[in-house]
Amino acid sequence: MTDSTPSSGAYELPTFAFQTPPELEHPPRTRRYPLVIVGAGLAGLTLAADLASRGVACVVLDEDDTVGVRGASSRGIAYVQRSLEVMARIGIFERIAAKGTTWSAGKVLAGDDVLYAYDFQPESVSAQPPFINIQQFYLEWYLVDRIHELGLTDLRWKHRVTGVRHRTDAVELDVETPAGRYTIEADWVVDAEGVNSVVREQLKLPAHGERGQDRWCITDVRFTRSRLNERWTWVEAPFNENRGVWQHLMADQVWRLDFQMAPDADPAHVSRPDVARERVAAMLGPDTEFELVWVGPYSYRTQLMENFRHGRLLFIGDAAHAKSPFGARGGNSGITDADNLGWKLALLLTGRATDAILDTYHQERHRAAEENIRVTSRSGRFMQPRSRNEFTLRTAVLQLARRHTFARSLLNAGRMSAPHHYAGLPAFGPRPDDGRSLPNIALSRQGHTVHLLDLLAEAGDELLAFVFPRDGDPDAGRTAHATLAAALAQQALPARALLMGRDVADSHGLLARLSATPGGGVALVRPDAHLGASLDSHDAAALVDAVRRSLGHPASAPSHDGDTHEHRHLVAAAG
Ligand SMILES: Cc1cc2nc3c(=O)[nH]c(=O)nc-3n(C[C@H](O)[C@H](O)[C@H](O)COP(=O)(O)OP(=O)(O)OC[C@H]3O[C@@H](n4cnc5c(N)ncnc54)[C@H](O)[C@@H]3O)c2cc1C
Repeated sequence: MTDSTPSSGAYELPTFAFQTPPELEHPPRTRRYPLVIVGAGLAGLTLAADLASRGVACVVLDEDDTVGVRGASSRGIAYVQRSLEVMARIGIFERIAAKGTTWSAGKVLAGDDVLYAYDFQPESVSAQPPFINIQQFYLEWYLVDRIHELGLTDLRWKHRVTGVRHRTDAVELDVETPAGRYTIEADWVVDAEGVNSVVREQLKLPAHGERGQDRWCITDVRFTRSRLNERWTWVEAPFNENRGVWQHLMADQVWRLDFQMAPDADPAHVSRPDVARERVAAMLGPDTEFELVWVGPYSYRTQLMENFRHGRLLFIGDAAHAKSPFGARGGNSGITDADNLGWKLALLLTGRATDAILDTYHQERHRAAEENIRVTSRSGRFMQPRSRNEFTLRTAVLQLARRHTFARSLLNAGRMSAPHHYAGLPAFGPRPDDGRSLPNIALSRQGHTVHLLDLLAEAGDELLAFVFPRDGDPDAGRTAHATLAAALAQQALPARALLMGRDVADSHGLLARLSATPGGGVALVRPDAHLGASLDSHDAAALVDAVRRSLGHPASAPSHDGDTHEHRHLVAAAG
């Protein structure tokens, strides 16, 4: 890729060429594929790249011929550690780090008062930093580049999906292109079309939500002098009529200044360059020199589908759940959807799991989406109280937070996106830590550092069972490992066992601590770096059960019910 030079108009984005698809070049017009993804936005591209990195091909259809949104600003800017870890596994973290701006510290202010300051770095144990800011279109661009490098994905630009039919044995999509229309058939379809999903609308699948009343105006600027790289959030900014303001550095030395507007603000008026300049001058003083890069007003909507799986169709990203941008939970959670679904689809498409595994996608990501919507809605109401009572509460919290530490926890100007803890869901073990996300911690192998994600990447779409010897006894550990590895192999399960101390060393004791196996046992880690189960014994039946649960089977159930289960599901969905 080349740079997208921000000009005083919009960013300049790349154009990807339309290519006539085989369906229109050589009859028959309808072809069948194992997997089609609709939408090459952040979520769809992450899934395609993830699958390609696991050796799985798919077709991706996008109605546009570029990344981001042509003529608009970058929407997303802040990417959290979990997303950066996903990008590291896919192979583009270095590009993101080189281009973006790495940060960990920020302040929340009311006027000149700093209500609190934070820094996530001291707590971090991951190889990736707490946050990198980078314009969303760069991230998408790197994903496109990576998809091309991996060479497995059939990425089709200017292919707009206009119709969908869900049959028991396949999904049919009608596609419109500059060269004509065709129909494509797929065993499985992932809808990543964003908030205005045609597939969702046509199938009349409910997505409950509401449009927010809050109005904001992005004012991206570049300063002639460098400024402190911190995220500052004004809950009340006197220079913006006591409404909210965000300031934050992205790539290319462009700062995102985001101003909360009056609810009745005229979008055309607030976007005028002279009005935007006045806003920035009021904020930073009349002598601050800057260049306007992009100005644009926006509002947001909240939306949640009831089910992220509908038979042979799966919904990811904004198509499944949309929310306000507070805490950067939109794109980051779309990336996590892709991370959650990628290995499951890979196992399904290569015949090593039944479609029961896809139900775990819905269970896990729907609960995460509910949490994200709950958290962002609270932030939204704190930033834009809806009633006199909410306003009184907010005023009291702001006054108290100026003087008392306890009140700072009540401030809610956006809580940054964090991995969801899947505790209690069917695919996980019963212990409190089961279901948690594990950071990309450093381990060692033959005297060299190896990160958890390196090991997971090597394992492809298989789970890893880290076997910790009891009380550090290496002989007993070897015997236990051999028994466990044999049990996994005998059941032909997609999981491999590693003996701690021999195959890998947990030099800092972090994995044992995070997986709650300090006295010995097994930590079963899924390819998306979530702890599937922690076992305090070396019981082979317990490990087999835990792996089967991760694949979507009830514990201890016979393993050959896949066809029946799949059939039951698909007939129900298509019917
Ligand atoms: C102001 C603002 C700031 C934000 N800040 C952040 C942030 O800092 N961090 C963060 O994580 N998130 C942020 N977000 C949210 C983030 O931008 C979205 O959550 C994210 O873009 C969703 O990705 P997606 O892939 O699900 O959908 P989209 O990005 O909307 O992609 C959908 C894709 O589908 C294609 N498509 C649509 N319909 C069809 C069709 N019928 N046929 C074929 N293709 C189709 C489109 O061309 C597009 O490429 C922000 C959003 C806004 C508005």
